[in-house]
Amino acid sequence: MLFTVFADLFPKPFQDHVYRLQADTQYRTDFQAEVNPMPIEIWESTPKWRLTAKFRKLINRTCERCGRTQNLEVHHKTYRFKGIEILYPQDLEVVCNSCHRGIHQLSLWPAQCHQARLAYPQ
Ligand SMILES: [Zn+2]
Ligand SMILES: [Zn+2]
Repeated sequence: MLFTVFADLFPKPFQDHVYRLQADTQYRTDFQAEVNPMPIEIWESTPKWRLTAKFRKLINRTCERCGRTQNLEVHHKTYRFKGIEILYPQDLEVVCNSCHRGIHQLSLWPAQCHQARLAYPQ
């Protein structure tokens, strides 16, 4: 699993969380049941999401649309894996804030996703 490549860059409790999500079906089901009812902007304000966004940015360090390296955010292509995105990093896209705004203006994504800007301290 790709996370293992970067695991040392994350706090131990988060590493344990990711490995349990992967290996323990009941833990994964329970965690998804906890996250699912949360509005997306609440989930995106949690440390677990912020670490997921950090992980995603380690895979792609530039905007996947224009190549910028500043003001990077993480965009959900779908919400199919809400809560367990760390296991499905291909469903997330690293974009700069400018491209991110464009994505949401061109689509019918929920306004709250647009507001929940996923900037992670660089
Ligand atoms: Zn961009
Ligand atoms: Zn987005």
